[in-house]
Amino acid sequence: MENKTAKRIQTARVIVQIGFLVAVILGVSTKPFADWMLPAALLVGVFFCGWVCPLGAAQDWMWRLGRLLRLPQLHVPRGLQRYLQLSRYVFYFLLLTWGIAFALLKGPYNFSKLLHGEFLTVASGVIVLFLIAGMFIKRPFCNYFCTGGARQGLWSVLRIFGIKRDTAKCGNCGQCTRACPMNIDVARTEFVRHPNCIGCLSCVAACRRKCLNYGLMPRPKGK
Ligand code: SF4
Ligand code: SF4
Ligand code: SF4
Repeated sequence: MENKTAKRIQTARVIVQIGFLVAVILGVSTKPFADWMLPAALLVGVFFCGWVCPLGAAQDWMWRLGRLLRLPQLHVPRGLQRYLQLSRYVFYFLLLTWGIAFALLKGPYNFSKLLHGEFLTVASGVIVLFLIAGMFIKRPFCNYFCTGGARQGLWSVLRIFGIKRDTAKCGNCGQCTRACPMNIDVARTEFVRHPNCIGCLSCVAACRRKCLNYGLMPRPKGK
């Protein structure tokens, strides 16, 4: 993909993110998108997180604000990141098992309440803290805590379209890895199938050699 095209796509992404934020503030229902999120993740990856979700967008903007204010930026060491990035899947598993236990004990109403009621109320209480943390660390809520992102990410592992790296052209400069808001080591990946990839295409825009492309993925190899 042409670097200029990728950069234009980044501008379009910000416009789309602002559009969705305004729509949410105006009270427009996001249900049609929510209904299509999982099937779309299976086809093209988790674009919802990179393009639609206002909370994800807000963390992107806080990160940029942090850079503008020259605040210290914390980069999680890769070895630690390998384990930390599993945390949101652990939370998702716990939420599911608690939900099932509640449903068995008190009926499905409580399950739904747990998922959409008290849990979200508590979550919204700490969201401001995550936004502040977002000035120092890339998308902290998305990377380590969001169970919604984890659920979509698991679906996206089998995606049909995704990012491919031309290893013959790659100069191993690492710009793509540094640009990734989800801390994925794109520079060492031939096909990005990582469940944390949010389809933002920031890595593609960062590559000056134009060796990252979005297209059909090969079938996952069996072991
Ligand atoms: S991971 Fe969660 S908070 Fe982040 S963009 Fe996706 S749905 Fe939104
Ligand atoms: S930015 Fe491009 S050239 Fe640099 S490591 Fe990534 S894919 Fe390779
Ligand atoms: S790998 Fe590329 S598209 Fe995926 S989250 Fe990272 S920067 Fe965005």
